[in-house]
Amino acid sequence: MTKTSLAVALSLALLAIAPSPTLASAPANTSSAEAPQANPFFEQNWATPFAAMPFDRIRNEHFVPAFNRGMTEHLAEVENIAALKEAPNFENTIAALERAGRLLDRVGSAFFNITSANSSDAIRAIQSEMAPRMAAHQNAIALNPALFARVKAVYESRESAGLNAEQQRVAERYHLQFTRAGAALTAEQRLRMGQIGERMATLSTQFQQNLMKDTDSWVMLLDDSDLVGIPAPLKASASAEAKARGHEGKFAITLQRPSVEPFLTFSQRRDLREQAWTAWIARGDNNDSEDNKPIIAEIVALRAERAEIMGYDSHAEFTLDDTMAQTPEAALALMQRVWVPALARAKEERVDMQALIATEGGDYALQGWDWRFYAEKVRKQRFDISQEEVRAYFQLDQMLKAQFYVAGRLFGLTFAERNDVPVYHPSVRVWEVKDTAGKHVGLFYGDYFARQGKSGGAWMSAYRSQERFDGEVTPQVVNVMNIPAAPEGQIATVSVDDATTMFHELGHALHGLLSNVSYPSVAGTSVSRDFVEFPAQFMEHYLLQPEVLNRFATHTTTGASMPLGLQQRLIRAQAFNQGFATVEFLASGFVDMDFHTLTADDAKGIDVASFEKQALEKIGAIPEIPMRHRSPHFAHVFAGGYSAGYYSYLWSEVLDSDGFDAFKETGDIFNPEVAARLKKYVYAGGNLQAPMQAYVAFRGKEPGVEPLLRNRGFLADSDASPDPVPADEET
Ligand SMILES: [Zn+2]
Repeated sequence: MTKTSLAVALSLALLAIAPSPTLASAPANTSSAEAPQANPFFEQNWATPFAAMPFDRIRNEHFVPAFNRGMTEHLAEVENIAALKEAPNFENTIAALERAGRLLDRVGSAFFNITSANSSDAIRAIQSEMAPRMAAHQNAIALNPALFARVKAVYESRESAGLNAEQQRVAERYHLQFTRAGAALTAEQRLRMGQIGERMATLSTQFQQNLMKDTDSWVMLLDDSDLVGIPAPLKASASAEAKARGHEGKFAITLQRPSVEPFLTFSQRRDLREQAWTAWIARGDNNDSEDNKPIIAEIVALRAERAEIMGYDSHAEFTLDDTMAQTPEAALALMQRVWVPALARAKEERVDMQALIATEGGDYALQGWDWRFYAEKVRKQRFDISQEEVRAYFQLDQMLKAQFYVAGRLFGLTFAERNDVPVYHPSVRVWEVKDTAGKHVGLFYGDYFARQGKSGGAWMSAYRSQERFDGEVTPQVVNVMNIPAAPEGQIATVSVDDATTMFHELGHALHGLLSNVSYPSVAGTSVSRDFVEFPAQFMEHYLLQPEVLNRFATHTTTGASMPLGLQQRLIRAQAFNQGFATVEFLASGFVDMDFHTLTADDAKGIDVASFEKQALEKIGAIPEIPMRHRSPHFAHVFAGGYSAGYYSYLWSEVLDSDGFDAFKETGDIFNPEVAARLKKYVYAGGNLQAPMQAYVAFRGKEPGVEPLLRNRGFLADSDASPDPVPADEET
């Protein structure tokens, strides 16, 4: 997942998704008591290495004054542009807009990563205050008629005005974003669009905060004797978690995925698995003050209403109009194509596990809380492989080296750790990235360990995007993950899934770091969200390659490389349980699409619980595999930028599977010519072209779906050697 959308939305680049009302609700209560020099956001140039974010000096009390002044300045800049007497041209209108709002960008990119990576009550309070005000601010700009008239004039003369290809593309994107934000609507419609946007900003903030509270508040405190089957590293992190919560000597299982998921995989206590699983799938759905169902109903209705105002039948039609898929039908067709073989495979997997239960003398039917446990047993039996045996070969530090090695082989980058760049938490690490010629490329931050106050999952976001139209600005990006911390003095290891997620997030980071454009609104990850996962998921293919495993999968205690036999079994096992992984993912994808293909009339007053139930019945989902994210904790869709877009991961997987084949066909997974094209058109290309054009420029043809089906083991001849496609932790 990328969260760049949060920061970039501060510029005009991504206004389309979050419009809001007039100036009226944006009080300019800038604190005059705040001495300007005391607030680091007010400084033009930071005296840090690479002018990096001065996290050591940023205090919570700096955010609100910086937001206030940032909005005031941005608005003044924009009003000056709108009021210009000079005829509109690219430089005085579009380039001027690209230049505007720098302070707001600085504070926003710091703040909106902190809200997810290192939150607290104080941060949450500021977030609740700022979300609707930011929406209002963006709307004041997007719905300014004089400004839109200038943007439109530049857009209409783009081919005759002597603009270069990038400038024409930027002008087209601006015109589209303004139009999609409602700039061409009537005054009355614009007012309503504003109200909707502002209300939705509040609702999605509430959704995220409810979810975080619900997740953090549940804990299962266990004794050593309750931990039958639990491997040592998980025990150690459960012990550390209990200690952090003031229960030294106990073991804490939480609802964070890296805690609960391995517990469900290994715990031999069926009763405890049931308790943990039941709480896990009920996050946000407990009919208490943190219940997210009423919020969902309101968001769904508002989105449908907004789509209707924009002239679309549904939110999905509106949203997908500016994606690679273009229509809900195209996205649904792909989902359906994969769903049928996946569901059939999942049912076979269920039969295998039920047979194992019978063999062991069990007299119960397999339930949701049993799936991971018995899947692991079948995996061991069939492939003679256990996740824990493998884990001993995946040290966090070695996996960092491995991902940097792959980035080096493909794109000529080197990573050198720096200890002089300020960070927002002591466990965050920073690397300077350079190219083959030794030239500075950017900074890469890594925030890997789970802790309270951090949202679940994994993501990348940018503190600074690449641009060069006013002089070279180098990118600074961060990867955030939730790896359980190793106890003091022990080497941190990661599961294969977490290692895969590291490669995934590095792929997003490289998309930001390698960006090679002039204008920031088309830089790096500012691309269609069904394309943005492609460069991330592409990197996942490299983890389980012999070239990588031989060098970096070394044993924690012996230091020996992973034996060849284990490597081969590991790779063969990758297609295992793909029925389950695909079904749980697609169940979420279908429910997302169902909520968002409702018309404005049908979306009024829905009952979220029964809507979800019916949507699952419609596709024939099985109760043992619940949605990967049930609606009340589906943050991608109700607190992030993935509404009517969860399918994007699958869509991008078509591209990454087909794209990795481009390397395999040459017999060299680091083939320099293919890598050069991939870099030029995908990783460095930002939003310079439409996504299909960019893909074809790299690949020489449009992608086919067969490589994806083969990698997931859904094609008849796929037993031979599937590419590694472990389940994506972040999705
Ligand atoms: Zn991603």
